[in-house]
Amino acid sequence: MSASHPRYLWWNGKRVAWEGATVHVTQLGWATVPAIFEGIMSYWNDAQEELFVFRLDAHLQRFLRSQKMMRMARDYSVAQLTEVIADLLRANECRQDTYVYPLAFLGGGGGFRRLSSTEPAATEITITTRPSPSHLLQREWKHACISSWTRISDNVMPPRVKNLSNYRNSQLASAEASMNGYDTPILLNAQGKVAEGPGACIMMVRDGQLITPGVTESILESITRASLIELARDLDIEVVERTIDRTELYIADEVFFCGTAAEVTPIVSVDRYPVGDGEQGPITSRLERAFHDAVRGKDRRYARWVTPVGAPKAVPAD
Ligand code: PMP
Repeated sequence: MSASHPRYLWWNGKRVAWEGATVHVTQLGWATVPAIFEGIMSYWNDAQEELFVFRLDAHLQRFLRSQKMMRMARDYSVAQLTEVIADLLRANECRQDTYVYPLAFLGGGGGFRRLSSTEPAATEITITTRPSPSHLLQREWKHACISSWTRISDNVMPPRVKNLSNYRNSQLASAEASMNGYDTPILLNAQGKVAEGPGACIMMVRDGQLITPGVTESILESITRASLIELARDLDIEVVERTIDRTELYIADEVFFCGTAAEVTPIVSVDRYPVGDGEQGPITSRLERAFHDAVRGKDRRYARWVTPVGAPKAVPAD
Protein backbone atom coordinates (compact mmCIF):
# COMPACT_ATOMS: atom_id res chain seq x y z
CA MET A 1 0.00 0.00 0.00
CA SER A 2 1.39 3.45 -0.91
CA ALA A 3 1.27 6.27 1.62
CA SER A 4 -1.50 8.23 -0.10
CA HIS A 5 -3.96 5.57 -1.22
CA PRO A 6 -4.57 1.82 -1.12
CA ARG A 7 -3.47 -0.38 -4.01
CA TYR A 8 -6.97 -1.52 -5.02
CA LEU A 9 -10.59 -0.57 -4.99
CA TRP A 10 -13.58 -2.64 -6.07
CA TRP A 11 -15.74 -1.47 -8.96
CA ASN A 12 -18.67 -3.29 -10.59
CA GLY A 13 -17.59 -6.83 -9.96
CA LYS A 14 -13.81 -6.48 -10.12
CA ARG A 15 -10.91 -5.54 -7.92
CA VAL A 16 -9.10 -2.82 -9.93
CA ALA A 17 -5.93 -0.80 -9.47
CA TRP A 18 -6.61 2.55 -7.78
CA GLU A 19 -5.07 4.61 -10.60
CA GLY A 20 -7.11 2.86 -13.30
CA ALA A 21 -10.51 3.54 -11.71
CA THR A 22 -11.68 6.68 -13.53
CA VAL A 23 -15.02 7.91 -14.91
CA HIS A 24 -15.68 10.43 -17.63
CA VAL A 25 -16.41 13.95 -16.36
CA THR A 26 -19.89 13.91 -17.96
CA GLN A 27 -20.87 11.18 -15.51
CA LEU A 28 -20.67 13.61 -12.61
CA GLY A 29 -23.59 15.61 -11.31
CA TRP A 30 -27.01 14.07 -11.64
CA ALA A 31 -25.70 10.52 -11.37
CA THR A 32 -24.91 11.19 -7.73
CA VAL A 33 -28.22 12.79 -6.72
CA PRO A 34 -29.72 9.43 -5.72
CA ALA A 35 -26.31 7.94 -4.82
CA ILE A 36 -26.36 5.94 -1.63
CA PHE A 37 -23.48 4.74 0.49
CA GLU A 38 -22.36 2.97 3.63
CA GLY A 39 -19.70 3.82 6.17
CA ILE A 40 -18.27 0.72 7.81
CA MET A 41 -15.46 0.47 10.34
CA SER A 42 -13.02 -2.37 10.67
CA TYR A 43 -10.84 -2.62 13.76
CA TRP A 44 -7.37 -4.05 14.10
CA ASN A 45 -6.82 -6.53 16.95
CA ASP A 46 -3.11 -6.57 17.77
CA ALA A 47 -3.12 -9.69 19.94
CA GLN A 48 -4.87 -11.77 17.27
CA GLU A 49 -3.22 -9.99 14.32
CA GLU A 50 -6.63 -9.79 12.74
CA LEU A 51 -8.89 -7.13 11.28
CA PHE A 52 -12.53 -7.31 12.37
CA VAL A 53 -15.28 -5.61 10.35
CA PHE A 54 -17.97 -4.34 12.69
CA ARG A 55 -21.54 -5.40 11.89
CA LEU A 56 -20.81 -5.93 8.21
CA ASP A 57 -24.03 -7.83 7.67
CA ALA A 58 -26.20 -5.04 9.13
CA HIS A 59 -24.39 -2.40 7.06
CA LEU A 60 -24.79 -4.36 3.84
CA GLN A 61 -28.45 -5.00 4.53
CA ARG A 62 -28.92 -1.26 4.98
CA PHE A 63 -26.95 -0.69 1.76
CA LEU A 64 -29.44 -2.86 -0.11
CA ARG A 65 -32.38 -1.18 1.60
CA SER A 66 -31.04 2.24 0.58
CA GLN A 67 -30.73 0.99 -3.02
CA LYS A 68 -34.31 -0.24 -2.94
CA MET A 69 -35.54 3.04 -1.51
CA MET A 70 -33.84 4.96 -4.34
CA ARG A 71 -35.18 2.51 -6.97
CA MET A 72 -31.75 1.27 -7.95
CA ALA A 73 -31.01 -2.17 -9.38
CA ARG A 74 -29.59 -4.48 -6.72
CA ASP A 75 -27.08 -6.59 -8.58
CA TYR A 76 -25.06 -7.88 -5.63
CA SER A 77 -26.24 -9.75 -2.57
CA VAL A 78 -25.11 -9.25 1.02
CA ALA A 79 -23.12 -12.50 0.76
CA GLN A 80 -21.32 -11.37 -2.41
CA LEU A 81 -20.47 -7.94 -1.01
CA THR A 82 -19.26 -9.53 2.24
CA GLU A 83 -16.74 -11.59 0.31
CA VAL A 84 -15.74 -8.60 -1.84
CA ILE A 85 -15.01 -6.43 1.20
CA ALA A 86 -12.99 -9.10 3.00
CA ASP A 87 -10.99 -9.69 -0.20
CA LEU A 88 -10.35 -5.95 -0.67
CA LEU A 89 -9.15 -5.50 2.92
CA ARG A 90 -6.80 -8.46 2.50
CA ALA A 91 -5.52 -7.26 -0.88
CA ASN A 92 -4.84 -3.79 0.52
CA GLU A 93 -2.95 -5.40 3.41
CA CYS A 94 -4.92 -3.39 5.94
CA ARG A 95 -3.31 -3.94 9.32
CA GLN A 96 -4.82 -0.93 11.12
CA ASP A 97 -8.28 0.50 11.81
CA THR A 98 -9.80 1.00 8.37
CA TYR A 99 -12.94 2.68 7.05
CA VAL A 100 -14.78 0.89 4.24
CA TYR A 101 -16.88 3.01 1.90
CA PRO A 102 -19.31 1.31 -0.53
CA LEU A 103 -21.02 3.76 -2.90
CA ALA A 104 -23.82 3.02 -5.39
CA PHE A 105 -24.65 5.56 -8.09
CA LEU A 106 -26.39 5.60 -11.44
CA GLY A 107 -24.04 4.77 -14.28
CA GLY A 108 -24.18 6.02 -17.83
CA GLY A 109 -25.18 9.63 -17.05
CA GLY A 110 -28.74 10.97 -16.99
CA GLY A 111 -29.26 9.57 -13.52
CA PHE A 112 -31.84 12.10 -12.45
CA ARG A 113 -34.19 11.31 -15.35
CA ARG A 114 -33.74 7.56 -14.97
CA LEU A 115 -35.17 7.63 -11.50
CA SER A 116 -38.62 8.17 -12.92
CA SER A 117 -38.38 4.94 -14.92
CA THR A 118 -40.41 1.95 -13.79
CA GLU A 119 -37.35 -0.25 -14.34
CA PRO A 120 -34.80 -0.14 -11.54
CA ALA A 121 -31.94 2.03 -12.78
CA ALA A 122 -28.57 0.50 -13.72
CA THR A 123 -26.31 0.91 -10.74
CA GLU A 124 -22.56 1.20 -10.45
CA ILE A 125 -20.88 0.26 -7.20
CA THR A 126 -17.46 1.22 -5.95
CA ILE A 127 -15.94 0.14 -2.66
CA THR A 128 -12.91 1.93 -1.25
CA THR A 129 -10.89 1.59 1.94
CA ARG A 130 -8.87 4.12 3.90
CA PRO A 131 -7.03 4.16 7.22
CA SER A 132 -9.18 5.62 10.00
CA PRO A 133 -7.73 5.33 13.50
CA SER A 134 -10.37 4.82 16.19
CA HIS A 135 -10.71 7.59 18.77
CA LEU A 136 -12.36 5.33 21.34
CA LEU A 137 -10.97 5.82 24.88
CA GLN A 138 -9.05 8.93 23.69
CA ARG A 139 -11.23 11.33 25.66
CA GLU A 140 -12.14 13.49 22.68
CA TRP A 141 -15.09 15.65 23.67
CA LYS A 142 -17.26 18.07 21.74
CA HIS A 143 -19.09 21.34 22.39
CA ALA A 144 -22.43 21.41 20.59
CA CYS A 145 -25.11 23.91 19.65
CA ILE A 146 -28.70 23.49 18.55
CA SER A 147 -28.73 24.21 14.83
CA SER A 148 -30.97 26.79 13.21
CA TRP A 149 -31.28 24.24 10.35
CA THR A 150 -34.05 21.65 10.64
CA ARG A 151 -33.24 17.96 10.04
CA ILE A 152 -34.66 16.64 6.77
CA SER A 153 -37.81 14.58 7.30
CA ASP A 154 -39.36 11.40 5.97
CA ASN A 155 -41.74 13.09 3.52
CA VAL A 156 -39.05 15.44 2.22
CA MET A 157 -35.85 13.45 2.00
CA PRO A 158 -35.88 10.35 4.15
CA PRO A 159 -33.03 10.41 6.69
CA ARG A 160 -33.69 6.69 7.32
CA VAL A 161 -31.42 5.74 4.40
CA LYS A 162 -27.89 6.81 3.58
CA ASN A 163 -28.54 8.95 0.54
CA LEU A 164 -25.51 11.10 -0.29
CA SER A 165 -27.76 14.10 -0.92
CA ASN A 166 -29.00 14.00 2.69
CA TYR A 167 -25.61 15.29 3.74
CA ARG A 168 -26.21 18.74 2.24
CA ASN A 169 -28.47 19.31 5.24
CA SER A 170 -25.71 18.08 7.59
CA GLN A 171 -23.14 20.24 5.83
CA LEU A 172 -25.15 23.45 6.20
CA ALA A 173 -25.64 22.78 9.91
CA SER A 174 -21.98 21.87 10.49
CA ALA A 175 -20.71 24.98 8.71
CA GLU A 176 -22.99 27.23 10.74
CA ALA A 177 -21.92 25.56 14.00
CA SER A 178 -18.23 25.88 13.31
CA MET A 179 -18.54 29.53 12.20
CA ASN A 180 -20.27 30.22 15.50
CA GLY A 181 -17.46 28.59 17.47
CA TYR A 182 -18.94 25.16 18.22
CA ASP A 183 -17.54 21.73 17.34
CA THR A 184 -20.82 20.32 16.10
CA PRO A 185 -24.53 21.03 15.60
CA ILE A 186 -27.44 19.02 16.97
CA LEU A 187 -30.43 19.14 14.62
CA LEU A 188 -34.07 19.27 15.64
CA ASN A 189 -36.72 17.62 13.48
CA ALA A 190 -39.70 19.34 11.84
CA GLN A 191 -41.63 18.88 15.09
CA GLY A 192 -38.95 20.83 16.97
CA LYS A 193 -37.73 17.76 18.86
CA VAL A 194 -34.17 16.47 19.06
CA ALA A 195 -33.28 14.38 15.99
CA GLU A 196 -29.55 13.70 15.56
CA GLY A 197 -26.15 15.12 14.76
CA PRO A 198 -24.89 15.80 11.22
CA GLY A 199 -23.42 12.30 10.98
CA ALA A 200 -24.32 10.55 14.21
CA CYS A 201 -27.23 9.65 16.46
CA ILE A 202 -27.63 11.16 19.90
CA MET A 203 -28.19 9.67 23.34
CA MET A 204 -28.58 11.30 26.74
CA VAL A 205 -28.61 10.12 30.35
CA ARG A 206 -31.08 11.45 32.89
CA ASP A 207 -31.33 9.95 36.37
CA GLY A 208 -29.52 6.80 35.30
CA GLN A 209 -31.77 6.17 32.30
CA LEU A 210 -30.29 6.08 28.78
CA ILE A 211 -32.66 7.93 26.43
CA THR A 212 -32.51 8.23 22.63
CA PRO A 213 -35.01 9.38 19.98
CA GLY A 214 -36.94 6.62 18.20
CA VAL A 215 -36.40 5.67 14.56
CA THR A 216 -39.40 7.72 13.39
CA GLU A 217 -37.97 11.01 14.71
CA SER A 218 -36.06 11.92 11.50
CA ILE A 219 -32.91 9.92 12.17
CA LEU A 220 -30.83 7.41 10.29
CA GLU A 221 -31.53 3.84 11.39
CA SER A 222 -28.12 3.71 12.99
CA ILE A 223 -26.30 0.45 13.53
CA THR A 224 -24.16 1.89 16.34
CA ARG A 225 -27.29 3.15 18.09
CA ALA A 226 -28.85 -0.33 17.93
CA SER A 227 -25.60 -1.92 19.15
CA LEU A 228 -25.29 0.47 22.10
CA ILE A 229 -28.89 -0.16 23.11
CA GLU A 230 -28.08 -3.86 23.28
CA LEU A 231 -24.80 -3.29 25.14
CA ALA A 232 -26.52 -0.97 27.63
CA ARG A 233 -29.23 -3.52 28.37
CA ASP A 234 -26.56 -6.19 28.87
CA LEU A 235 -24.96 -3.81 31.41
CA ASP A 236 -28.32 -3.45 33.20
CA ILE A 237 -28.70 0.17 32.13
CA GLU A 238 -32.33 1.04 31.46
CA VAL A 239 -32.88 2.23 27.87
CA VAL A 240 -35.84 4.29 26.69
CA GLU A 241 -36.55 5.31 23.09
CA ARG A 242 -38.66 8.45 23.20
CA THR A 243 -39.00 12.03 22.00
CA ILE A 244 -36.43 14.40 23.51
CA ASP A 245 -37.02 18.11 24.08
CA ARG A 246 -34.20 20.51 23.32
CA THR A 247 -34.10 21.81 26.89
CA GLU A 248 -33.67 18.29 28.25
CA LEU A 249 -30.20 18.39 26.74
CA TYR A 250 -29.45 21.51 28.81
CA ILE A 251 -30.19 19.71 32.06
CA ALA A 252 -29.11 16.17 31.12
CA ASP A 253 -26.47 14.36 33.18
CA GLU A 254 -24.70 13.04 30.09
CA VAL A 255 -25.01 13.46 26.32
CA PHE A 256 -23.08 11.71 23.57
CA PHE A 257 -23.10 11.07 19.84
CA CYS A 258 -22.85 7.57 18.44
CA GLY A 259 -22.12 6.34 14.94
CA THR A 260 -19.65 4.45 12.81
CA ALA A 261 -17.24 7.39 12.55
CA ALA A 262 -18.38 9.13 15.75
CA GLU A 263 -18.10 5.83 17.66
CA VAL A 264 -18.95 7.14 21.16
CA THR A 265 -18.29 10.90 21.29
CA PRO A 266 -19.10 12.68 24.57
CA ILE A 267 -20.80 16.08 24.28
CA VAL A 268 -19.77 18.21 27.21
CA SER A 269 -21.81 21.33 26.50
CA VAL A 270 -24.94 22.25 24.53
CA ASP A 271 -25.48 25.94 23.71
CA ARG A 272 -22.80 26.62 26.37
CA TYR A 273 -24.80 24.86 29.09
CA PRO A 274 -22.32 22.39 30.62
CA VAL A 275 -23.63 18.83 30.39
CA GLY A 276 -23.52 17.35 33.90
CA ASP A 277 -20.29 18.70 35.38
CA GLY A 278 -18.84 19.46 31.94
CA GLU A 279 -16.87 16.23 31.55
CA GLN A 280 -17.46 12.77 30.17
CA GLY A 281 -19.98 10.98 32.39
CA PRO A 282 -19.81 7.49 33.99
CA ILE A 283 -22.48 5.78 31.87
CA THR A 284 -20.88 7.12 28.68
CA SER A 285 -17.55 5.74 29.89
CA ARG A 286 -18.98 2.28 30.61
CA LEU A 287 -20.63 2.13 27.20
CA GLU A 288 -17.52 3.39 25.43
CA ARG A 289 -15.41 0.66 27.06
CA ALA A 290 -17.97 -2.04 26.25
CA PHE A 291 -18.23 -0.81 22.65
CA HIS A 292 -14.44 -0.73 22.30
CA ASP A 293 -14.11 -4.33 23.50
CA ALA A 294 -16.93 -5.50 21.22
CA VAL A 295 -15.77 -3.82 17.99
CA ARG A 296 -12.16 -4.97 18.34
CA GLY A 297 -13.25 -8.57 18.80
CA LYS A 298 -11.98 -8.63 22.40
CA ASP A 299 -15.29 -9.40 24.06
CA ARG A 300 -16.25 -12.76 22.60
CA ARG A 301 -19.85 -12.38 23.79
CA TYR A 302 -20.26 -10.10 20.76
CA ALA A 303 -18.31 -12.28 18.33
CA ARG A 304 -21.40 -12.44 16.13
CA TRP A 305 -20.99 -8.71 15.41
CA VAL A 306 -17.50 -8.91 13.96
CA THR A 307 -16.28 -10.48 10.72
CA PRO A 308 -12.61 -11.49 10.67
CA VAL A 309 -11.13 -10.78 7.24
CA GLY A 310 -8.19 -13.19 7.48
CA ALA A 311 -5.55 -10.44 7.48
CA PRO A 312 -2.28 -11.45 5.83
CA LYS A 313 0.56 -11.91 8.30
CA ALA A 314 3.16 -9.16 8.51
CA VAL A 315 6.33 -9.84 6.52
CA PRO A 316 9.17 -9.97 9.07
CA ALA A 317 11.84 -7.28 8.59
CA ASP A 318 15.27 -8.60 7.50
N1 PMP B 1 -27.01 9.66 11.57
C1 PMP B 1 -26.37 10.11 10.48
C2 PMP B 1 -26.92 11.28 9.76
C3 PMP B 1 -25.20 9.47 10.04
O1 PMP B 1 -24.57 9.90 8.94
C4 PMP B 1 -24.69 8.38 10.78
C5 PMP B 1 -23.42 7.72 10.33
N2 PMP B 1 -23.65 6.67 9.44
C6 PMP B 1 -25.40 7.95 11.89
C7 PMP B 1 -26.56 8.61 12.27
C8 PMP B 1 -24.94 6.75 12.65
O2 PMP B 1 -25.25 5.59 11.92
P1 PMP B 1 -24.36 4.29 12.03
O3 PMP B 1 -24.28 3.95 13.47
O4 PMP B 1 -25.11 3.24 11.29
O5 PMP B 1 -23.04 4.61 11.44
